[in-house]
Amino acid sequence: MINLPLNIDYTGKVVVITGAGGLICGAMARAFAQSGAKVAALDLNEATVKALADELTSEGFICKGYSANVLDKDALESVHQMVLNDLGTCDILVNGAGGNNPRATTDNEYQHEAKEGGKSFFDLSPEGVDFVFKLNFQGTLLPTQVFAKDMVDKKNGCILNISSMNAYTPLTKIPAYSAAKAGISNFTQWLATHFAGTGIRCNAIAPGFLVSAQNRSLLFNEDGTPTPRSAKILKGTPMDRYVDASELLGATLFLCDDRSASAITGVVLPIDCGFASYSGV
Ligand code: NAD
Repeated sequence: MINLPLNIDYTGKVVVITGAGGLICGAMARAFAQSGAKVAALDLNEATVKALADELTSEGFICKGYSANVLDKDALESVHQMVLNDLGTCDILVNGAGGNNPRATTDNEYQHEAKEGGKSFFDLSPEGVDFVFKLNFQGTLLPTQVFAKDMVDKKNGCILNISSMNAYTPLTKIPAYSAAKAGISNFTQWLATHFAGTGIRCNAIAPGFLVSAQNRSLLFNEDGTPTPRSAKILKGTPMDRYVDASELLGATLFLCDDRSASAITGVVLPIDCGFASYSGV
């Protein structure tokens, strides 16, 4: 059980979450399930969502895990059928699957610091860049095409996308991921407008830096002190700390609730300890 920041009753609502095997969306799946929702947890990694579903079910909540690739529309249609049979029509879609890839990352922050043998901007492969754009953009568009049909039919629903603070100002080394997330912020506004007459709202959160199992050793030395990169990040963060995944849950539950956020659509909410607001001076 986690301590929820908001008590909103989602009883009866079917919440479909992609990337639910991961850090952020796993926490969201739990938050919705604890709030009474019927959660469909989708992920490329079937084992993680099955384990999450087993854990939540054993605690008395409703969650089913599904193997799903957000880039395979036919497979998503099949998962949609399974969700319809198991839980019912989709009320809320969280497009959480996404991320960067080393193939779209430069070794150097600035071209004048590029080293012989390192991967510079000029070495980024079209395939690597394409992978990141596809995962983040198509990986949001395709599940929306599949699951938002239910919402159009019932003239009610909510979509929550996950952008990033790098959508406002790009981070060094990751041009494709930054641009793809800027695309997600833009697409969130597009969807909000497109669906406004159907009763569907669409918003996004833009998380700042989180500490995860994958990046912990890049951010902290063994004695717990920040690495040079971490010190730089914290210097650019007015609140001088990282965001915890649990701190995304209040906004998630709020934005997806029809009563609390009935007039809110097309919003991209930074949750970044001030990172995107600070000019550095
Ligand atoms: P994570 O790596 O912990 O989780 C991502 C999940 O997506 C994984 O379980 C992975 O298996 C799944 N996935 C990857 N490709 C998939 C595909 N093709 N189909 C279905 N599932 C797929 O990442 P996270 O940190 O929890 O990130 C979740 C979202 O938040 C992402 O969109 C990410 O870009 C965004 N985000 C993360 C941070 C951060 O600091 N962690 C900051 C801003 C935004």
